Amino acid sequence: MLNLVLFGPPGAGKGTQSAKLIEKYNLVHISTGDLFRMHIKEDTELGKRVKQILADGLLVPDSVTIDMLEEEVKKNPQANGFIFDGFPRTVAQAEALDVFLTKNGEKINGVVQLDVTEEEIKNRIAERKKISGRADDDEDKLLKRIDEYFSKTIHVLPYYEKQGKVASVNGIGEIDNIFNGICAAIDAVK
Ligand code: ADP
Repeated sequence: MLNLVLFGPPGAGKGTQSAKLIEKYNLVHISTGDLFRMHIKEDTELGKRVKQILADGLLVPDSVTIDMLEEEVKKNPQANGFIFDGFPRTVAQAEALDVFLTKNGEKINGVVQLDVTEEEIKNRIAERKKISGRADDDEDKLLKRIDEYFSKTIHVLPYYEKQGKVASVNGIGEIDNIFNGICAAIDAVK
């Protein structure tokens, strides 16, 4: 199995690159943000619970997020591997993921960090807002999400650095060039 974490701030291009990666490496893409949005759209119990949290740009509690993630992995027993996008976002989530994978005789093979400046992120999300209509792409919500990233999520990196698993890839430039950089990083850990 090939299990990858795609790591980077909001608007780093994780979704775009994941779509290309799952095709090339035949992996299952799990985006916790997409899953939460699906629950909200379908108005499930979980959706009702997290709706306001997402609208505010805050992180959903770890236990809720971890349960949902594990459930999603279990739905794909035949998978070649997974791309985790938007997860883990806290050290507690990273630890829980390791425990879960180890139990199943699996592990995270590599973590690709998409390196993007804060200025670039803000420009991109302003553009995305015009198309996506995502409520959390508004200026103040975006600032909150960036804040959550730099206050909580960034600490996930040293967790994986200690395991020697992080590869940084420049996330600015042509989508295909960035993709090639990511593939080179993945091929080195495969
Ligand atoms: P982006 O990376 O563009 O901010 P995502 O689609 O990854 O957006 O996530 C959207 C929202 O979903 C987050 O702002 C947060 O509220 C929630 N969320 C997604 N993944 C997690 C996670 N791993 N832990 C906690 N909350 C999460």
